Amino acid sequence: MKNNRGFVIGRMQPVHNGHIEVIKKTLEEVDEIVIGIGSAQLSHTLKDPFTAGERVMMLTKALADNDINSERYYIIPMEDIQMNAVWVAHVRMMTPPFLKVFSGNSLVRQLFEEENFKTSTPPLFNREELSGTEVRRRMLTDENWQDLVPEATADIICEVDGLKRLKNLSRKEISEL
Ligand code: NAD
Repeated sequence: MKNNRGFVIGRMQPVHNGHIEVIKKTLEEVDEIVIGIGSAQLSHTLKDPFTAGERVMMLTKALADNDINSERYYIIPMEDIQMNAVWVAHVRMMTPPFLKVFSGNSLVRQLFEEENFKTSTPPLFNREELSGTEVRRRMLTDENWQDLVPEATADIICEVDGLKRLKNLSRKEISEL
């Protein structure tokens, strides 16, 4: 089979409806998609509360709930490295081959373009509300965050007691200021 694979990467802290939309949109253009769970080494901070494993679970279940055939995607946790200049080589070492990168993150696009990959910027869906920052803010203020995420994300956050974790991290980080 010819390589018609695309690459998408996100911290997905947590997986929200915007991530699912961008994956669905990308699958209209490519046969298969390689999905990087970025900053995989990070967890248990206010900005990055969930482990890579928890994010893999959220995404796997959410894609299944959206009837996306599991033969069409690969989910790969990707740790950050200190050296942006060799990051693309690091990503390529860890992932199935792909030709095109879909990212709203200008640094991600730039690093891949410098290595001669095709890139494109997917449309943003309701960005004011569909962002990890907004989901985590609502979780901390007891506002309705559940509407911004797939049911699978809400279930996993419940399973790992993620709301309590985030609130506890908020108390800890404020006390350390
Ligand atoms: P993110 O979770 O904010 O977004 C991921 C992608 O989802 C975006 O590119 C965007 O296309 C899409 N998206 C998000 N909200 C959307 C919405 N409302 N509608 C439509 N699409 C939406 O993650 P990010 O910050 O872009 O992730 C990049 C990852 O790459 C990070 O983990 C970063 O650390 C990593 N990275 C690492 C290095 C290194 O290690 N040297 C270098 C560059 C990038």
